[in-house]
Amino acid sequence: MSQVPLPSTDKPRIVVIGGGFAGIKLVKRLKNLPVQVVLFDRNNYHTFQPLLYQVATAGLEPDSIADPLRKQLEPVKNFFFRMAEVYSIEPENNLIKTEIGEVKYDYLVLATGSKTNFFGNESIMQNGFPLKQIPQALDLRSHILQNFEAANIATDEKELASRMNVVIVGGGPTGVEVAGAMGELKNNILPGDYPELDFGLMTITLLEGDDRLLRGMSEASGKRALKYLEKFGVKVRLNTMVKSYDGLVADLGDGGHISTHTLIWAAGVKGNFPKGLNKESIDKGRLLVDPYNAVKGHDNVFAIGDIAMMSSDEFPQGHPMLAPVAIQQGEHLAQNFKHILSGKQKKAFKYKDQGSMATVGRNKAVADIGNMKVGGFMAWLIWMFIHLISIIGFRNKIIVFSNWVWNYFTYDKGTRLIIRKFIPKNRIKEEV
Ligand SMILES: Cc1cc2nc3c(=O)[nH]c(=O)nc-3n(C[C@H](O)[C@H](O)[C@H](O)COP(=O)(O)OP(=O)(O)OC[C@H]3O[C@@H](n4cnc5c(N)ncnc54)[C@H](O)[C@@H]3O)c2cc1C
Repeated sequence: MSQVPLPSTDKPRIVVIGGGFAGIKLVKRLKNLPVQVVLFDRNNYHTFQPLLYQVATAGLEPDSIADPLRKQLEPVKNFFFRMAEVYSIEPENNLIKTEIGEVKYDYLVLATGSKTNFFGNESIMQNGFPLKQIPQALDLRSHILQNFEAANIATDEKELASRMNVVIVGGGPTGVEVAGAMGELKNNILPGDYPELDFGLMTITLLEGDDRLLRGMSEASGKRALKYLEKFGVKVRLNTMVKSYDGLVADLGDGGHISTHTLIWAAGVKGNFPKGLNKESIDKGRLLVDPYNAVKGHDNVFAIGDIAMMSSDEFPQGHPMLAPVAIQQGEHLAQNFKHILSGKQKKAFKYKDQGSMATVGRNKAVADIGNMKVGGFMAWLIWMFIHLISIIGFRNKIIVFSNWVWNYFTYDKGTRLIIRKFIPKNRIKEEV
């Protein structure tokens, strides 16, 4: 395999895989260190995943939740970006293999995030819609709109309802947010576009295997989210799992069935990393790291963000897979690189919990901030503010904000476009 062209250097080379929340923060903070930094990502852009659901439900354009990595990292000296999928790691040779060649490293940082977890369910992987990448959100948007076009000319009532019905699996923040956004489309937007359709036939069902919503949040927030969703007309079925889905009927574990052309899978993610690391470093799909983010058994390999499993008394199962954890670990590892390079003692990572939140739709959200459990309009304002300040790129902040203001006052969503038709055989598949 040929070498990836890079300027030769006498400085230590830090190779970072993944330009997500963790990778970007790390690279920015390595700015003034005497190192060469090489970032690999399969895309040339960063994705702001918390708003993917708004792209999928025609609330935002995809461009407003993505930002070019080269632009983001332009001011970083000694920085080189290479757009490529990383296939494997050879830790014994300090080498990674990518689709454009191989590269040697002095230090390697894995910031490769997570991927959809179908828990081995082949039928759902084949026919359901995951929500992890921008192309997947665009497929879902096209698919939903294509179904309404088809429903509008359907002559068979069963087929018509099945085209309109939507099932969302997973009552975590993503499932709750998608369900709320679908409720808004049904109540405020689609009836105007399709006056010939009877929206009384359309059902939006949120399925959750647990006995409550938002398990990672307080009970009060879970209950509130349930109340808000029901107000938006979403049927929430707790203690209910999907057994299989053939693209037309969701077979529920309790013997029930729902006819739907659209099943959105928001029931879980698992770690995502190139092969080559030793087996002892992997636990439940994530990489075991010490309090300095070094991967177990590999001195010069680090993992940050979703992929890192740092078990502690406070977080026995590792930290939650959230953007603030990824950002803080990126920041912290940069600090530790300073210590490593100057021969000082590294510092252990300590997560500063900034709370968690989920929006359910217009004027309705839930937020747990310290001991405060906020709901309704106030939580919705907090949710909007936090997302606006977190979204990467000033241009994106302005576009997202103006879109939200427009949508709020006009009850309209401007991006109900089928730019490229969804064709099932071209579905972006992920492994089970
Ligand atoms: C739909 C959805 C909603 C969410 N909502 C919230 C929320 O409201 N609040 C919150 O805090 N968190 C939320 N999260 C979680 C949050 O997005 C993640 O915790 C965060 O993105 C993790 O950051 P990361 O840097 O570890 O990985 P990511 O941001 O996933 O970045 C990983 C990067 O690695 C690249 N990559 C992966 N493998 C390879 C490879 N082999 N070769 C090259 N490049 C590779 C990818 O292209 C990607 O750019 C949400 C996630 C999803 C999917």
